[in-house]
Amino acid sequence: MHTEPINLLGMDASALTQLVGQWGGKPFRARQLQKWIHQRGVSQFDDMTDLAREFRAQLSEHCVVQGSPVMTQQRSTDGTRKWLFDVGQGNAIESVFIPEDDRGTLCISSQAGCNVACRFCSTGHQGFNRNLTTAEIIGQLWWARRELMQDMASARLESGQPEQSGQPADPRVISNVVMMGMGEPLLNYEPVVGAVKLMLDDNAYGLSRRRVTVSTSGVVPMMDRLSQDCPVALAVSLHAPNDALRDQLVPLNKKYPLDELLSACERYLKFAPRDFITFEYVMLDGVNDTDQHARELIQIARRLHCKLNLIPFNPFPGSGLKRSTAPRIRIFAQHLMDAGIVTTVRKTRGDDIDAACGQLAGEVKDRTRLSEKMAAQKLIAIKEIRA
Ligand code: SAH
Ligand code: SF4
Repeated sequence: MHTEPINLLGMDASALTQLVGQWGGKPFRARQLQKWIHQRGVSQFDDMTDLAREFRAQLSEHCVVQGSPVMTQQRSTDGTRKWLFDVGQGNAIESVFIPEDDRGTLCISSQAGCNVACRFCSTGHQGFNRNLTTAEIIGQLWWARRELMQDMASARLESGQPEQSGQPADPRVISNVVMMGMGEPLLNYEPVVGAVKLMLDDNAYGLSRRRVTVSTSGVVPMMDRLSQDCPVALAVSLHAPNDALRDQLVPLNKKYPLDELLSACERYLKFAPRDFITFEYVMLDGVNDTDQHARELIQIARRLHCKLNLIPFNPFPGSGLKRSTAPRIRIFAQHLMDAGIVTTVRKTRGDDIDAACGQLAGEVKDRTRLSEKMAAQKLIAIKEIRA
């Protein structure tokens, strides 16, 4: 009887140990395997040279290490990179890598689509397609890291520099992971936590809890669970300073209104790896960006230790919304800073490849035409947008 091969990509340490144990293997074999898969990005068992030949044969017979197929990859002139993954049945998800001087941040997706239906989000307009598995979530990091390491290795080769300590490239190239791509991570709880645990595992990606951020629109009970299971850094998508407006912008607010959300943030802070929560606030012209909104926001921000991240809205067709003007964003930010609240304005990156939040979701919205879009996207990938 033909059975589906087991995909090892989404397995955590205990699942791998159990699997290896079934074949009489010791736990350290599972650790070796985990390092090959996640740290070295190797997917062929025959290349895992320090594993016994029989063990490799068993693995090849029953298992695979398989990420989602890449539909396209794009590079921005500013170094931002974006991958579009095919997750089957006409669904696509995206990941974006943003290099900065002191860090490299990978933004990954947790669901294909999203049913929270925020007014300003093109993923929300697309609706919900399905939850991603742990393998599909961690697979985005696995793939991006492999690609970036290969890039670094070829750059080193071109410049004639030798490889260092047998490693193909600097494994810390992705220093931070944020769950700010498509989907609401806390509505796909178990697979997300499985992936986050792999991110933190020293035999996998070894990131510290403060370098992994879960962003949520405010799924209160799951925030409490996360604080117990895996308290990584938390970003909360606030977007409005009162319930009436937040009900309209983030419909989940009707279920978990601001007061409950803020109490959940206060509880989370007791376990958080940083001593603040990041509030995200998308700047929408004439909707949530007046001086009065700033005053209300200051009252909220004073309630707990937080930082505010103002995000200039990325317009998409049919949203009916506009980005706040640059002077308005500056004045709004100044109000907050004058009140002693740490405030940043997010830089838009990768504009030439539409790398901003949820942008691509809109493009693949019409799933009946996905293959056409795929062909078009492939063309873009072949041309590679690089100056
Ligand atoms: N569902 C989670 C995480 C994914 S959305 C959440 O809502 O937090 C990640 C961030 O992108 C959120 O803060 C969201 O509000 C923001 N975002 C979504 N659409 C946007 C747009 N069109 N312009 C700017 N920011 C957007
Ligand atoms: Fe979903 Fe986040 Fe978009 Fe809201 S902003 S629709 S929660 S992905």
